[in-house]
Amino acid sequence: MEPEYQPGSLLIREKNETCKKNIQNGGIGILGIEFDQNSSFRKGPASAPKRIRESYFSDSSNLWSEKRLDLGSIKHLYDLGNIDLKKDIDNFTTITDSVKNILDQKCHLICLGGDHSVTFPIIEAYAQKYDHLNILHLDAHPDLYDNLHGNINSHACPFARIMGKKLVARLVQAGIRTMNGHQREQAQKFGVEVMEMKDGTNWLDKLEFDGPVYLSLDLDCLDPAFASGVSHHEPEGMTTRQVIDIIHRLKGKIVGADIVEYNPDRDLLSMTSMVIAKLLKEIIARIYEDTI
Ligand code: MN
Ligand code: MN
Repeated sequence: MEPEYQPGSLLIREKNETCKKNIQNGGIGILGIEFDQNSSFRKGPASAPKRIRESYFSDSSNLWSEKRLDLGSIKHLYDLGNIDLKKDIDNFTTITDSVKNILDQKCHLICLGGDHSVTFPIIEAYAQKYDHLNILHLDAHPDLYDNLHGNINSHACPFARIMGKKLVARLVQAGIRTMNGHQREQAQKFGVEVMEMKDGTNWLDKLEFDGPVYLSLDLDCLDPAFASGVSHHEPEGMTTRQVIDIIHRLKGKIVGADIVEYNPDRDLLSMTSMVIAKLLKEIIARIYEDTI
C-alpha cells in the first residue's frame, strides 16, 4: 500500500512503521540515526533527527528548493523514521542492514543525525549496491585516524575504515582545516584527494565525478559563524552559500547523502537546524533531479 501523501510535508511515517517499509521500488528516503556513542568530545548528535525534522517543517520557511522544486508536491519522498538502535549490541551491523534493506528497494537515501562514525556502516551497504562509488566528504576534519584513544570506530576514523576496506573508488575531501602529521600520512597512503581551506576555494566549481556520488556532510565543514550547533567549533570554514553551491554545481550523480555531527545541545535558537533544513531541501532536490 502506498503511504498516505500529505501535501506540504514529507510523507509522514505511520505509527509503528519501521524503516523496513515497502517503499514501492524507488524514491528518496529520509532516515534518522540517533547515535553518538563514538563521539570523542561531546555527546549530542543522537538527538539530531528530531530537531532537524522540526526545522524542516517549520512555518518560518517553505518547502521549495532554491532551484524551483516544490518538495511539498513531489511524490516518492519518504520519511522512514529512525533506525531502531539498541544498547550494547553491534549497532554498525544494524545500520548497514537497515540501509541495505532500503537500497534494495531502489531507494536513494539521506541519513540524518549521528556522529560521523555512522558513515562507515552506511557506506558498507552502499558499496554492495554501487560499483565505482565516489564520496564527496565535506568536513573541517579529515576523519582519517587509524584509531582515536584506542577506538577504531571513533567519529575521527570512518574514512580510514572505508579506504582500508577499499569500499570506494575515490574519496574527495573538502573544507579540511585540521590536518595533522598522522592524517596527512593516512591521506597519502589511501590516495585521498584533500582540498584544504588554506589553499583557497577555487575547487568549488571544479568538483567532477565519474560515476555515482555519495555526499557525506559533516556540519562542521561550515564556519562556526554559520553553524554553531556542532561539538567541534573549528574556525575558517565554508559559508552556507558555498555548501549549497557545491550541492547545486558538482558534476556527477548524487545517489545518497548523510548530514552528521549536528549537536542540538549547542544550538539554543535552532539556527543551525534551520541551516540543516535548508541544506536537506537542496540535497533532496538535487537527488530528485539526478535520479527520478
Ligand atoms: Mn567528520
Ligand atoms: Mn568534523
